[in-house]
Amino acid sequence: MRIGAIEAGGTKFVCGIGDESGRIEDQISFPTGHPDQTMPKVIDYFQGKEVEAIGIGSFGPIDIAHGSPTYGYVTTTPKPGWANYNLLGTLKQVFPVPFGWDTDVNAAVYGEVKWGAAQGMSNCLYITVGTGIGVGVYAEGRLVHGLVHPEGGHVLTRRHPEDDFAGICPYHGDCLEGMAAGPAIEARWGKKGHELPEDHQAWEMEAFYIAGALTDTILLLSPQKIILGGGVMQQPQLFPLIREAVRRNLNGYVSSNSILDHMEEYIVAPGLGQQAGLCGALALGLSAISNKVSSI
Ligand code: ADP
Ligand code: ZN
Repeated sequence: MRIGAIEAGGTKFVCGIGDESGRIEDQISFPTGHPDQTMPKVIDYFQGKEVEAIGIGSFGPIDIAHGSPTYGYVTTTPKPGWANYNLLGTLKQVFPVPFGWDTDVNAAVYGEVKWGAAQGMSNCLYITVGTGIGVGVYAEGRLVHGLVHPEGGHVLTRRHPEDDFAGICPYHGDCLEGMAAGPAIEARWGKKGHELPEDHQAWEMEAFYIAGALTDTILLLSPQKIILGGGVMQQPQLFPLIREAVRRNLNGYVSSNSILDHMEEYIVAPGLGQQAGLCGALALGLSAISNKVSSI
């Protein structure tokens, strides 16, 4: 089976071909420009590749409400050319195959459930900490869409006692993304994350904010595993700091062995590594064939 996969990111697009075992046999990547430049590259890539379906995990916000007149659109992004852009429809016009369509983080969590760190689980979260913060939610065996789709990157946070940074979210100022996404680290400390030393105070503060949000999601959704990806999580020292802060926050209240005794297997990096998003898009494409996607 040949399935197309598109990880449509705000910074870069990754297109690939894979099969039903999750193996990616070919892929390309290019920076995200104006859709007039970017979409022809996507179309060129899949032309003649004879895929049976295509799955797309997209940056957002996007419309994933079946039956909505703007289903398949990117909605309110400030990225030039992409606001109210019919991303899915543009590809459907060219390729007469079933399409899977969801947020980039929902795709990633789905990929991790199918082939990665959360295989066989019914409740799992994928959180990316990069240019923005996004949360993909898989609950009771389904991807969660809800009213629009979860926007867990913008939850409100408790402030670190030594932090007077105002936050940079254009909507909320000091929401999680405004305080802890890559650009917030850069704005607060005057250096990009990868330029800060491993023992810099930035990482304890970063862990504080991420752990606060994880604590809330653990209490709210009771996930069986939390997967943390994205550029900022390339700092491996964050994982133990986050696990410790979550443990402190919960203070023994949630009585599960996963949390009390096996935190290092509970809050983890993606099992699929950098391929989580693309494999997730592949999984969405596969589901589109069996029509499962319309029921998730
Ligand atoms: P995007 O979110 O745009 O898809 P990334 O997940 O790579 O892309 O996130 C980019 C953000 O992550 C930038 O703000 C960048 O400074 C930060 N970042 C990338 N690599 C690292 C690293 N090794 N350490 C800390 N921060 C990083
Ligand atoms: Zn916000």
